[in-house]
Amino acid sequence: MRTSLLAILLIPLATCDRPQPPNIVFIFADDHAAHAIGAYGSRLGDTPNIDRLAREGMLFRNAFVTNSICAPSRAVILTGKHSHLNGVMTNRERFDSAQVTFPRLLQAAGYQTAIIGKWHLKSEPTGFDFWQVLPGQGTYYNPDFRTPAGIVEHTGYVTDIITDKVLEWLESGRDPEKPFLLMYQHKAPHRRWEPGPDQLTFFDDVTIPEPTTLFDDYSGRASAAANQEMTIAEHLYEDDLKLVPPRQLNEEQLASWNAAYEPKNQEFRDANLSGADLVRWKYQRYLKDYLRTITSIDDNLGRLLTYLDRSGLAENTVVIYSSDQGFYLGDHGWYDKRWMYEESLRMPLIVRWPRVVEPGSDNSDLVQNLDFAETFLEIAGVAVPAEMQGRSLLPLLRGEVPDDWRDAIYYQYFEYPAVHMVRRHYGVRTMRYKLIHYYEIGEWELFDLHNDPEELNSVYGHPDYADVLEELEEMLRRLRERYDVPEQDPVPYPEG
Ligand code: CA
Repeated sequence: MRTSLLAILLIPLATCDRPQPPNIVFIFADDHAAHAIGAYGSRLGDTPNIDRLAREGMLFRNAFVTNSICAPSRAVILTGKHSHLNGVMTNRERFDSAQVTFPRLLQAAGYQTAIIGKWHLKSEPTGFDFWQVLPGQGTYYNPDFRTPAGIVEHTGYVTDIITDKVLEWLESGRDPEKPFLLMYQHKAPHRRWEPGPDQLTFFDDVTIPEPTTLFDDYSGRASAAANQEMTIAEHLYEDDLKLVPPRQLNEEQLASWNAAYEPKNQEFRDANLSGADLVRWKYQRYLKDYLRTITSIDDNLGRLLTYLDRSGLAENTVVIYSSDQGFYLGDHGWYDKRWMYEESLRMPLIVRWPRVVEPGSDNSDLVQNLDFAETFLEIAGVAVPAEMQGRSLLPLLRGEVPDDWRDAIYYQYFEYPAVHMVRRHYGVRTMRYKLIHYYEIGEWELFDLHNDPEELNSVYGHPDYADVLEELEEMLRRLRERYDVPEQDPVPYPEG
């Protein structure tokens, strides 16, 4: 009943000269790897509401980030420009929010724009009619929010609170006369993977399957792979493993946290593990907490989808699910991201758009976060500025692949020296091959993804791949030229 009444109320909006442009709901997680999503065939289990979006929309199998780290990915999405041009090359820079961004352009075109949740770009959000964002990384429990009126405090779990705010804005903050852009951006499942109060004991009775590369020895690759600081074996700490409680808990939260974790921790202390057994235990602890935070994202997505259905908004709303990059879930013995290897290069990207996108469809073309701004603008019927470097995904969403769609993507990671000590590198990936240049140390890797999907054996310098290498080097040169990548690395080494 409620649906039909609202549908009637909405009719006048659709009777203008042209149909009301669609609303855009951009749901963005932080560090949510595609291989932790049921619809991508995850061996880690289902994500029922995200999977529902895939059944009702299009799933992109080859969506890749340009620079696999948090703030830089966000800046690329907002501007449609590579890191070296939007100025956020590492997590250290402040985003210059005077730049042209797609929210500003949508706002100017008559969209009502809102961002709720994680922002992580230091400067204040611009181009938004409404914004409430976490300061910096934010906290999982009892989070503060930055608002135009100052800091607002909250009690509860961040994923629930962000969703409460989203639903409240949709219900009563929105101007029903205007199409809207809503950016619904989670902190989860970012480190330290602190589960919500309702999920503390989820997965206690199951064993999470291990990746085949959990005990990777990094032979067969450049020296960079072995010389990082992001292994499950050595670089997960007490906080990460919940051997101590998170800092922000109030008394009541601490009591339920202790009830959930103290028996498990006692069992661990009694077992006195070492070597591979200890790695396996850490892997289980890490993955279960990671998946618990995702369970909360998925449950809360269910609340949003139900609201969109009941309000009648679902019909004319494009819903996108994505994450700023992928993540290592024990793959190569790691957690975190940064590398151009597949697990952190690939982003989840699912788009539901009733009457435009074929339900249950998928796409394997090479797409990037560089394309998001252009796509949102074209969805809204707004011209894409020439300075943006990506390409609208609209034809792909309609099931049409242009003949001149890209055959390679460009990647560059700049944050070294820094936490996790992943060397700076750039590279090119085609449908089958990947060439990586660790340019500070003069090392290269070449992978044949068809024969070696786990990227364990670089064939750089192998005579069988001489022609492939030559072709990839030429592609890399052309891409660097096309994207105006300066010869000189634009990120100086930090002082000291
Ligand atoms: Ca991230």
